[in-house]
Amino acid sequence: MYYENDVQADVLKGKKIAILGYGSQGHAHALNLKESGLDVLVGLREDSNSRSKALESGLTVKSVDDCVKEADVVMVLLPDEKQKEVYDSQIEKNLKPGQSLVFAHGFNIHYKQIVPPEFVDVFMVAPKGPGHLVRRTYEKGSGVPALIAVHQDYSSNAKDKALAYAKALGSLRVGAIETSFKEETETDLFGEQAVLCGGVTELIKAGFDTLVEAGYQSEIAYFECLHEMKLIVDLLYEGGFEKMRYSISDTAEYGDYRVGRRIVNQEVRNEMKKVLSEIQDATFANQWIEENRTGRPFYNQVKADELKHPIVNTGKSLRTMMKLEGDK
Ligand code: NDP
Ligand code: MG
Ligand code: MG
Repeated sequence: MYYENDVQADVLKGKKIAILGYGSQGHAHALNLKESGLDVLVGLREDSNSRSKALESGLTVKSVDDCVKEADVVMVLLPDEKQKEVYDSQIEKNLKPGQSLVFAHGFNIHYKQIVPPEFVDVFMVAPKGPGHLVRRTYEKGSGVPALIAVHQDYSSNAKDKALAYAKALGSLRVGAIETSFKEETETDLFGEQAVLCGGVTELIKAGFDTLVEAGYQSEIAYFECLHEMKLIVDLLYEGGFEKMRYSISDTAEYGDYRVGRRIVNQEVRNEMKKVLSEIQDATFANQWIEENRTGRPFYNQVKADELKHPIVNTGKSLRTMMKLEGDK
């Protein structure tokens, strides 16, 4: 783990940092870096919806072309599926020897959608948390842990730059781990697909559907399968399986040991291995690139179908009744 004390010289002091994009990660990086004393520019397109927000926060906004021309360090915080297009049209031609090209996720470098010239540093600072937490924890004097990785070290101090960037972002207050673009990309995709996003939502839906189909009230099913998930995850986050299992009843713990492995059984584990191999051999990446090229037919269809699932309306009305904090 790297912490603030591991940053030797302040290699980013006096350098111009361009943050391309002002979305979930972009706003957090721009504001945290600025408040850490760095010279920040935000790069956006002319008709950007995010422009007024960035200006209101006192940031300087320029075109992507101008940002790349002026900056020493260019952090690419555009949606992954748009990065290649913006790189090809506005970034590549403006790159100069000695500049740094930085990413918060390795997708485009690892799958060779973007192949930078050999005369720039290419590294990654990937906060392991959503942008809004990157910002909120920084404001509270803490941060979100990060992964750093160096893909190309033209200047021979790309790693120092990555650490200095991670420090300014607030991540070294909690710690950063070194990885490679390959490891970050493949584990990030696997985690979100199999466990965090795809895995969790399908597990919740399957539990909810099972209860509702058996005649139980949908509100109760929602509480059991979705609402309580946060309470359990909070315990996991604080103290791992041990703390969660210490806190639940022995009945729940016995049921956990009896039934958990019947649900996530060998078949599920085999499928996880298959999913991982499709990430490793670029099958998933190529599907996603093709999906975007053809106007996202699958994505749009499933997104619309998901909104029709009964858990959506049950959740909406329950959450309104409970007046949950932060659920706006
Ligand atoms: P968002 O979708 O939240 O934000 C994208 C930003 O890019 C917006 O400000 C958008 O502005 C701008 N943008 C989109 N298209 C263009 C374009 N053609 N030219 C210029 N600007 C454009 O992205 P995220 O913050 O979610 O993701 C950014 C990167 O961070 C990705 O690599 C992602 O993998 C990574 N990451 C994201 C995490 C997260 O918490 N979301 C977590 C860790 C890493 P507008 O459309 O208004 O022009
Ligand atoms: Mg991801
Ligand atoms: Mg219970």
